[in-house]
Amino acid sequence: MFGLGKNEKNNSPGSLLASTLHDEKAKSEIILTSIDDGVILIDSDKTIQLFNHGAEHITGWNQKDAVGLEYKSVIKLVDEKNEPYDDDQNPFEKIFKSANPLRDNNANLITSSNKTVAISLSVSPLINQQQQLIGAVGVFRDVTNERQEEKQRAEFISTASHEMRTPVAAIEGYLALAMNDKVATIDTKARDYLEKAHTSTQHLGKLFQDLLTSARAEDGRLQNHPIPIEMGKFLQQLAEDIRFTAEKKGLVVEYLIGAPTGQPIDASGVGVQKLVKPLYYTNADPERIREVIVNLFDNAIKYTESGKITLGLTGDNNVIQIRVQDTGTGIPAEDITHLFEKFYRVDSTTTRTVGGTGLGLFICRKIVELYEGRIWVESKLGNGSTFYINLPRISYDKAQELQAKEAAQNLPTGVTRESTI
Ligand code: ADP
Repeated sequence: MFGLGKNEKNNSPGSLLASTLHDEKAKSEIILTSIDDGVILIDSDKTIQLFNHGAEHITGWNQKDAVGLEYKSVIKLVDEKNEPYDDDQNPFEKIFKSANPLRDNNANLITSSNKTVAISLSVSPLINQQQQLIGAVGVFRDVTNERQEEKQRAEFISTASHEMRTPVAAIEGYLALAMNDKVATIDTKARDYLEKAHTSTQHLGKLFQDLLTSARAEDGRLQNHPIPIEMGKFLQQLAEDIRFTAEKKGLVVEYLIGAPTGQPIDASGVGVQKLVKPLYYTNADPERIREVIVNLFDNAIKYTESGKITLGLTGDNNVIQIRVQDTGTGIPAEDITHLFEKFYRVDSTTTRTVGGTGLGLFICRKIVELYEGRIWVESKLGNGSTFYINLPRISYDKAQELQAKEAAQNLPTGVTRESTI
């Protein structure tokens, strides 16, 4: 590592620095030595070639011992349950498959003295002029304090919203009773007031529920039991369950499976028989996926006055893509980048009149990210919106393998033989 010799002529700190800086290598070394972040460089054999001061500090390994070793014996990554990362999770392994920069904000590292340190890690590929992947650079930071504070904050929100939900539910119940002709007598004016109070209480109840869910999503305590889901069948059933509210508003609901231009089918499945239905398996918790689709579907209803809501499913070998499309108000371009942030609501006459918490899309994003998926929207103001979700696709064989694992633990799964192509 970089260091100045003891007998080096030291005229003034400024000139010393200037004379040193002409050397590019020295410059890089100064930077690498002076930053707190850990920096590690591994070659294509996954052997450590560079290990800076920050990396020594965070891992407890010293540079002389670490350089030359296979990175896995030094950078031991574990998840929040202290389970070692498998290769599908490990960014240092994944980068050699995809060659795309990767970031992991939830990683933990086991130090040389067996302590667990929370880190945020980003790994970038090293590509030479011949476009060959020749190694990877990992940069990581100790985020133990930040994660602890985040956890405490999320715990506070989750406890507070949980505690507040109970009295709100009681108030809502009593208001409903007061408005029930069979148990109470009230005049028209009082009914009007009570109805307003009831609507506000329902809104408050939804806000606490959403707060609770988003706090849990943030600190990783969202209940999550992934199983293989065949998305075609799953969405068809879901469309059947949720179409009623849309139809009550006079909106048409359609469900498209296969290519976006595919033959429309209604939610009961009529019209698909002639199509060869691909099987779109993903490994996720059906309850969580339901939550996401219902949220997008409810928004589509809320922000669409007339026309159609389309639930679509397509995909390729690696990805399944779900879309919820509407013919509603659309979203201004400047709001689109903020839409999935906490509490973000578009400031428009529609949102002012339509109730909401601004947490729905944030929760959707958190859930989709839990399964390493992606959610985004394409929209034009006045011209409807399409929300897309990409989830990793698993093969039928993989779905079966996971099903067998589940069966061994005596848990039900969503894999059925009957939908084989
Ligand atoms: P909310 O509870 O306000 O609906 P969301 O997080 O679900 O919160 O949505 C955030 C904002 O995104 C909404 O307030 C609305 O302005 C906009 N939005 C979401 N879905 C749609 C849609 N389908 N059409 C138009 N605007 C939408």
